[in-house]
Amino acid sequence: MKHLADLLLLGDPRLYETCEPVLESELPLVAGWVADLHNVMEEIRAKYQFGRGIAAPQLGIMKRLIYLNIDRPQVVINPELIALSDDMNELWDDCMSFPNLLVRVRRHRKLTMIYRDENWQTHTWEVNDWALSELIQHEYDHLNGVLCTMRAIDEQAFRWRPTPNP
Ligand SMILES: [Zn+2]
Repeated sequence: MKHLADLLLLGDPRLYETCEPVLESELPLVAGWVADLHNVMEEIRAKYQFGRGIAAPQLGIMKRLIYLNIDRPQVVINPELIALSDDMNELWDDCMSFPNLLVRVRRHRKLTMIYRDENWQTHTWEVNDWALSELIQHEYDHLNGVLCTMRAIDEQAFRWRPTPNP
């Protein structure tokens, strides 16, 4: 089982790599990967009090796999984003790989995501909820080796966030 100490942190070269698609033949491995992602996200939540999603490469699993846990756990395999709205929104983004840093970024307000679930079923998910849309764009970026630091809107688009007191 992977733990917080296994999380790749800002500057790790693997965070800048493009991930490989998950193959159908690799499905038996997905449950183990998801268990690791779930566990590390729970540890992050306990320590930093944030975390709704995590991408496999953040644990050095260089696969196109995202784990979301907002109201319920959700496994997203080989996502494609289409129909990104022209309408953009700005926010202070955060990332488990640099939990004390906030970055001002601009994201599409709406999108549609095509992906496979852990049973290899294909889904088309129209995401109109802004908070979910920006989260999906953040996690999807990880699969292409893109961090929100690389999307900062200007040179001053960074803020320090202290670790919450236990
Ligand atoms: Zn992140």
